[in-house]
Amino acid sequence: MLGVGERGVGGGGLLLGFDVGTGGCKAVLAEMSGRSLSSAFEPYPVSHPRPGWAEQDPEDWWRAVCVCTRRLLAEGGFDPLEVRGLGFAGQMADTLPLDERGEPLNPVVLWLDNRAEEQARFIIRRAGGEKVLRRLAGALPTGKDLVSKWLWFKQERPEVFAKTRLFLDATGWLVYRATGVMQVDRTGAGASGIFDDRKGRWNPLFLRILGLPREVLPEVRGCTSIAGGLTVEAAGEMGLEPGTPVISGMSDIPAAAVGAGAMGEGEAHVNLGTSSWLVVPVRRPPRLGRWGMVTLPSADPALPILIGESETAGACLRWFAENLLGPGEGGGEEPDFSLLDRQLEEAEPGAGGLIFCPWMFGERSPVPDTSLRGAFLNLSLEHRREQMLRAVYEGVALNLRWMLEAAAAAGLPCPRVRAIGGGARSDAWMQLLADVVGREVECVERPQEAGARGAALAAAVALGAFAKMGEAGRAVRVRKTFRPQKESAALYGELFDAFRAAYPVLSRLGGCLNRP
Ligand code: ADP
Repeated sequence: MLGVGERGVGGGGLLLGFDVGTGGCKAVLAEMSGRSLSSAFEPYPVSHPRPGWAEQDPEDWWRAVCVCTRRLLAEGGFDPLEVRGLGFAGQMADTLPLDERGEPLNPVVLWLDNRAEEQARFIIRRAGGEKVLRRLAGALPTGKDLVSKWLWFKQERPEVFAKTRLFLDATGWLVYRATGVMQVDRTGAGASGIFDDRKGRWNPLFLRILGLPREVLPEVRGCTSIAGGLTVEAAGEMGLEPGTPVISGMSDIPAAAVGAGAMGEGEAHVNLGTSSWLVVPVRRPPRLGRWGMVTLPSADPALPILIGESETAGACLRWFAENLLGPGEGGGEEPDFSLLDRQLEEAEPGAGGLIFCPWMFGERSPVPDTSLRGAFLNLSLEHRREQMLRAVYEGVALNLRWMLEAAAAAGLPCPRVRAIGGGARSDAWMQLLADVVGREVECVERPQEAGARGAALAAAVALGAFAKMGEAGRAVRVRKTFRPQKESAALYGELFDAFRAAYPVLSRLGGCLNRP
């Protein structure tokens, strides 16, 4: 590993931020002021070796990081020496066991993977039952959570567990690949539910309940601390200078809060990407575990964030386009989302009473339930395809409304929400969202770059360009604000009640039909 700080920080210079997501890597090249100059995207696959499993090859992530970096530098004609620092924002709650030499012992087990149901139940039993654990931890583990997956390795892959030096998350592994330093940032550690952020340590009681040795979990660092400098090997692969500072970074959701410019207390943002989420910075976290909402550390050490994450949002739209629309209709393998937006406007609000439940790969929030699946409800012979499409957009919005209402009932009204993610490029979807949730929706500029921008802004803070994370967030600009239209309030209120009423029925069905 090279020493850091051999390269100056003052004056101009450039930053790189990477959002290493599920579908691919988004990279942003920005000025020290946070102004984004250009962006790049490089996709990679997810494999599903068994039903409910979801894995990736971490080297695919790294290749994408390198391709994006080289492309951004070459296209803009930039000198690698101008890059002063970089940051990664990896998928939250992925896990990867590494051996003594730092080699992966398994593909990455993704946040989406639900292989560890059995282990989640084991943890609940071991902790003394649901009531006790809810009181201790605020929420119950599911088969998708990190703790369940660490235990899965211990119980189901003992030969891998025995060789495991430690588990890293996506951000931690990327930092390791770049610098050779093994660590994890506060947000990534917080995603496990067993890291005590206030005391800055892995909770010994939870480690005992899990039967996990402390040694398999890495050191935890602040998001804007500098983890190390690029190794000669990594710098060569990226086309950058060895020693370029790499920050500890953060998980994608906290990075998105920075890149949405929603860092102040009560300043909510929603993401409409492959998945969706609601994030609200809160000083005094409410207990909303019942709705699958958790409070985790954010990039700002003083202000945690409340997160409700829904597994499939844009993914439902993509599924619809790929499976039910032909290439001329915006569908097929490469959906044309702007064409879908136009068809959306051909159907009336409420889609003729058709309701779509977007729970197509189980759900975390607002209804934590892994065997749950989606549905079109109230379908009749009169419904047209445009109405089915509109119902998909509306279903995703109704799901977000459920999270917003749960937060509001706990004292977080969020009258205004920032919007990011691919869906925030669509004016039609944003107006529909404002109408369904009954709140102002502020779309930020370059909404799909929020995560990568957040990582770059954190690097700017680390290098002293901003005094605090909150200040860096103010560099983010709003593209357009959408206000709820009064005419549709009653209609969406009715649909929302029906949407919520559908859940227990679908939950029972899913429990019978989708047992692991
Ligand atoms: P990811 O979570 O994979 O990073 P993105 O934030 O890039 O996702 O958003 C991708 C999703 O955004 C697509 O699956 C699609 O559903 C949605 N999307 C992208 N562009 C549009 C658009 N113009 N209109 C509606 N939805 C869009």
